[in-house]
Amino acid sequence: MRSSIAAKDVGETNMKKQSIHLHWYRNDLRLEDHFAPALAQKHAHFVPVFVIDPRTYKQHPLGFAKTGVKRMAFLLESLQQLDYALQRMGSKLLVFTGYPEVIIPSLVNKLEAVHLTATKEYTAEENRVEDALSTSLPGISLYHDLTLIHPDDLPFDVSDLPEIFTSFRKIVESKVYVRAVYPAVDWIPPLPPGLPLTQIPTLEQLGMFHSEFEKGLRFKGGFATGNERLQEYLFDSRLISTYKQTRNGLFGMDYSSKFSLWLSVGALSARMIYHAVKEYEQSVESNESTYWMIFELLWRDYFKFIAMKHGNAIFKPGGIKGAIPSLQLHDKTIFQRWCNGQTGNDFVDAGMKELLHTGYLSNRLRQNVASYLCKDLKIDWTWGAAWFESKLIDYDPCSNWGNWMYIAGVGNDPREGRYFNTHKQATMYDPDETYRSYWLESHYHQ
Ligand code: FAD
Repeated sequence: MRSSIAAKDVGETNMKKQSIHLHWYRNDLRLEDHFAPALAQKHAHFVPVFVIDPRTYKQHPLGFAKTGVKRMAFLLESLQQLDYALQRMGSKLLVFTGYPEVIIPSLVNKLEAVHLTATKEYTAEENRVEDALSTSLPGISLYHDLTLIHPDDLPFDVSDLPEIFTSFRKIVESKVYVRAVYPAVDWIPPLPPGLPLTQIPTLEQLGMFHSEFEKGLRFKGGFATGNERLQEYLFDSRLISTYKQTRNGLFGMDYSSKFSLWLSVGALSARMIYHAVKEYEQSVESNESTYWMIFELLWRDYFKFIAMKHGNAIFKPGGIKGAIPSLQLHDKTIFQRWCNGQTGNDFVDAGMKELLHTGYLSNRLRQNVASYLCKDLKIDWTWGAAWFESKLIDYDPCSNWGNWMYIAGVGNDPREGRYFNTHKQATMYDPDETYRSYWLESHYHQ
């Protein structure tokens, strides 16, 4: 396993001048703050490849696509923007549909002297593909690059990760630094001759159709859009200065950053956000809100480290506690009503409608609808997590299943029996019912 660019790579520069660097893009869809473009400059050719794996958007046994149409659309836009960025440097993104462990080796076999890299993932399905690829191509270098804090910089082994977030946070805040962003590149080596020309498929070519749910916020994938949002949220509007007070809001773009969307496909990196916040703190102001943004990014890291530590347990009904909740119903009719926003609880229904229409939901509503499913309706929480996986554009396996475990009481919550009273929460967070009216109006007219 490779964890960072090693000094010896630099010494190998001249030796490898005729060689080819193939980078298998996964959830790291950017050129900025990325190890691959910098490494590629040591080679004669750079081959950036993305593989759309049909296993990721197949039907879930519960009867919906594992990747819903809005998430897929965002991914395709992100690929498009990466391709434009590569084209501006005289290159092109090669996009295939199929199994990465079949497609990558067949490409490598066509080329010579290939140095193969990819970003390491931390969850079962992704690891299975990595393992299959590593078996046929043992020379592959997998880099840790999805977290804010590099796993090698943790002052403990991941197997000793504290089970309580606050303990983890206190250790990393006092002992760990965040690495600098990778330097920007202004050129990359060209593609080698003889490679197939590929096109990014459309939704229709993948057998998907634009959703009929189109009310509310609309998000566009890709680094350029993500970076615009970063600049806007920090330097243009200075919304970050009040983030701690607004972050429990429900409505619109401004109450929270929405960075999760671009983070989920790696169109932004957590490091880039961190260093932008640090710059803001230096040049504009530093307060509890700017601190809180980094605090939340540590939650994101924490769930990734939890996945590394506990492996497949995060997807199991018993979670990392190994304690299946006493009553878990598997009633598809009740579940379907929750999915469609037809439970009769207006706060929950409004949230589920927003999720259907936009592919996004505030953290406050995610907590409420999740708690309602597993604590009020007593439906198996893994069903709810699977629905979120399909519908959330910002779906991240570690954050999604980690948060669901937490709410279901089988994860890292030190408090036993946490319960969200959705009626109280509605009164507190939607006192004048603006949010519910907006979403339920469309609901009753469909
Ligand atoms: P902000 O409030 O602006 O936060 C900034 C960043 O901090 C986020 O972009 C995110 O990267 C991180 N962050 C904030 N809260 C959390 C959290 N609770 N856990 C982990 N990271 C956090 N987040 C995802 O990115 N993908 C998911 O699939 C996902 N599923 C969730 C499921 C449930 C049941 C719950 C309760 C939460 C889930 N979250 C998930 C966490 C959180 O709700 C979202 O990260 C957040 O709402 C995204 O909006 P934002 O970027 O505006 O967040």
